Amino acid sequence: MDRSVLEIRESASRVLERVEAAAQRAGHPVTLVAASKMNGTDHVRAAFEAGVRVFGENRVQELESKLREDAYRGASVHFIGHLQRNKVKNVTGRVDLIHSADSPELLRLIGKRASELGIRQDVLLEVNIGGEPSKSGAAPEAVEELAARCAGIPGVFVRGLMAIPPAGRGLEETRRYFEQMRNLFIDIGGKKYDNVSMDILSMGMSADFELAIACGANTVRVGSAIFGERHY
Ligand SMILES: *Cc1c(COP(=O)(O)O)cnc(C)c1O
Repeated sequence: MDRSVLEIRESASRVLERVEAAAQRAGHPVTLVAASKMNGTDHVRAAFEAGVRVFGENRVQELESKLREDAYRGASVHFIGHLQRNKVKNVTGRVDLIHSADSPELLRLIGKRASELGIRQDVLLEVNIGGEPSKSGAAPEAVEELAARCAGIPGVFVRGLMAIPPAGRGLEETRRYFEQMRNLFIDIGGKKYDNVSMDILSMGMSADFELAIACGANTVRVGSAIFGERHY
């Protein structure tokens, strides 16, 4: 059964409370990004009414149709999905943060578009922390080099790192991935690269966002715990 607008408002409130409680325990503020894929404008508005102020989309078409409907008014929207090169123009300058930059080519295209628009696009570097062949993201050992290369790419500004660890591995293994991410985040943050400021660590989803926050995440992306299970 799909959740009603009323149920979404309630589940969004509960998730906001859980994020806030975990943030208190961890001793740092945390931003909740509501992953609203496959949910329409009415569902986005229901989460907004509950206090959600950042939404994340991972499909360009959905982002564009919800932008046309002004679904995110009063809130901010991030792009969290895999970004194809031929869609860079549709996303750059239209979202406050792109979570999924993972190659010099993609960063250059984003920077080129941002420069055309006369803006600077904030991005996160996506890390394939589990080394899964099926997933996008830079290899952990290549991330620092990628950050260093951004110094020479006008139009982009790297705000931090994002990862989606392997699914269904249990909390202990997931914790190790989160800790590896935190270590990368701290290591790169200690270096001084132009166009790079490591202040956002985006990790943790419905099944594990409290663990992610305990491991240092300051941005979590939560979908099904707010909007219900997705039917593909
Ligand atoms: C859908 C999605 C999420 C949220 O996943 P849930 O398990 O439903 O919380 C987080 N990050 C990305 C990139 C997503 O596409």
